[in-house]
Amino acid sequence: MIGNTPLLAVHYRYRSSERVIYAKAEHLNLTGSIKDRMALHILHKAYDEGRIRPGDKIIEATSGNTGIAFSAIGRALGHDVTIFMPDWMSRERVALISSLGAQIVPVSKEQGGFLGSIRMTEELAAREAQTFLPCQFSNCANVEAHETTTGPELHRQLQTRGLSPAAFVAGVGTGGTIMGTGRYLRAHFPGVKLHPVEPAESPTLSTGCKVGHHRIQGVSDEFIPAIVELQSLDAVISVNDGDAILLAQKLAAQLGLAVGISSGANFIAALKAQNELGDDAVVATVFCDDNKKYLSTDLLREEPARDGYHSPEVELLHYETIGRL
Ligand code: PMP
Repeated sequence: MIGNTPLLAVHYRYRSSERVIYAKAEHLNLTGSIKDRMALHILHKAYDEGRIRPGDKIIEATSGNTGIAFSAIGRALGHDVTIFMPDWMSRERVALISSLGAQIVPVSKEQGGFLGSIRMTEELAAREAQTFLPCQFSNCANVEAHETTTGPELHRQLQTRGLSPAAFVAGVGTGGTIMGTGRYLRAHFPGVKLHPVEPAESPTLSTGCKVGHHRIQGVSDEFIPAIVELQSLDAVISVNDGDAILLAQKLAAQLGLAVGISSGANFIAALKAQNELGDDAVVATVFCDDNKKYLSTDLLREEPARDGYHSPEVELLHYETIGRL
């Protein structure tokens, strides 16, 4: 129920040329997001190494999908789960985490927002016995999850078509996806470009700190996570959040691919990489989650197209699936 997702070959027309972008359908995972891979691997490894015991409470700070993933997998394994989350995330996220039997602690900007959430997980773990902190932002098992699953799957699925990736792009939340998939791909395709993606409205990677506001939930939290090694990656690609919303809306309305806002951002970033590398370049990315967590957000509202956006020039044609392995 987690991983081994189909690879989608999305055919589209852009400025009169026909192109393809490859995207792993991560919205098909157990809880509807790519974060299931990381949560499962972190728990698996912690069990193997004896760092989590039956009955331990799992405590994590998250902008949503990680909380949903740890709640579902944690409950399946009989653990109580407590999630600290900034209070500006979509209400669907809060409702889903509660529905999975986890306790959710909203953290306001005044209480420290994202960084405050992380600090509070540590404070709670210090107060209580029998706790487990996954620490997704600093745990190298997060990177490993993608190095051992997402990367190899992408490789083998492209191979069935006789293709090699020229570039892989992914929005950075914890950075697990870009670092892990990237590490695997680099080892097999030394020339592959690896582009982290960030919102133009809040360029954390480029500035190193929290600036501005953006609407691409799940990426660009407030700091550069410890597992992100920017020096091992290629140029950061920035995407306007409105452009990401428009493209995600098009994927749902025109192709029936009901994905979230960061998937739209990843598509735009892949398109930008293709602008650099050529129309035929094999550029891959991930559709991180489905659209059900965004029903109360701007994803379901009319979004104005602005100068410089790419989505108005994208005509989505059709997609094929390169099946599970
Ligand atoms: N998109 C969404 C919707 C997410 O929840 C996340 C995870 N925070 C990401 C993208 C980024 O993934 P990663 O943490 O692996 O960088």
